[in-house]
Amino acid sequence: MNMDTIDYQGLLERVCEETRPLAGKGHAADYIPALAEISTDHFGMALIDTKGGLYSVGDADIPFSIQSISKVFTLTLALRELGNEVWSRVGREPSGHPFNSLIQLENEQGIPRNPFINAGALVVADMLLEAHPDPRDKILTFVRMLSANNSILIDERVALSEKRAAHRNAALTHFMKSFGNIGGEVEDVLNLYCNHCSIAMSCIDLARAFRFLAQKGIHQRFEEPVLTFSLTKRLNSLMMTSGLYNESGEFAYRVGLPAKSGVGGGIVAVLPGHFSMAAWGPGLNERGNSLRGIEALDRFTTISGLSIF
Ligand code: GLU
Repeated sequence: MNMDTIDYQGLLERVCEETRPLAGKGHAADYIPALAEISTDHFGMALIDTKGGLYSVGDADIPFSIQSISKVFTLTLALRELGNEVWSRVGREPSGHPFNSLIQLENEQGIPRNPFINAGALVVADMLLEAHPDPRDKILTFVRMLSANNSILIDERVALSEKRAAHRNAALTHFMKSFGNIGGEVEDVLNLYCNHCSIAMSCIDLARAFRFLAQKGIHQRFEEPVLTFSLTKRLNSLMMTSGLYNESGEFAYRVGLPAKSGVGGGIVAVLPGHFSMAAWGPGLNERGNSLRGIEALDRFTTISGLSIF
């Protein structure tokens, strides 16, 4: 296939049109009250290719709550700081359980299955608290740099709402602390976690930010690679196996791209060597993933034949 002649804009427009019947379908995440208010009619997509061409459709420039997509940024920071030490405290296997499940932790001695379920991301937050005096600022600065957008903010209202409803995340953190896998104060870990989940970004910001994963770790705005080639490969592999909670297998089957979703309705996907792209539709399916976002990405790779397989 000649990648120079792919009409990305036309593809995005076609996919947006074909998935229109799903507008308003699904439910916005309601266990975080501030997210329940978002209209499920929103939909946007953005794609940036490795030559810097930016294509977008619909609500691609409206910021939304990135939620679990932020776990890719925190894991990247932890890998930059600690390299393979990260894996002594968190695993690399798909969990097969919902993102906020407590069930495996007892059997597995407080070591979460992977860094993308809540338990794993809470451990990564604890690592960043140990490594930095102001990890919240570190994460925000990193994300702004990756997205070339200094106006990216943490939505304080969402963060507060999330903190008030964080009973399961508090339980997970206490439980892991009882196994010695949380070094800091539970309260501090929860605060940092709820803050990074509440970063608001648009599809365009996200497509830009994930560019290094399509470029062997290189990002135009960083002098040094964001991650080594090897760690970039590994991060993409983790997204492939665990990026969509307990729907990762189905997503891999349908879409064939490494990706990460969040309960704000965003999904970011990468075709290494070619592009990074984001889709946003706040209506979720029963597994907490964007209904229209998955359908759109499925159609995008099916129509174009662009996937890693
Ligand atoms: N902040 C959300 C939670 O902890 C993240 C969930 C998600 O996007 O998967 O429940």
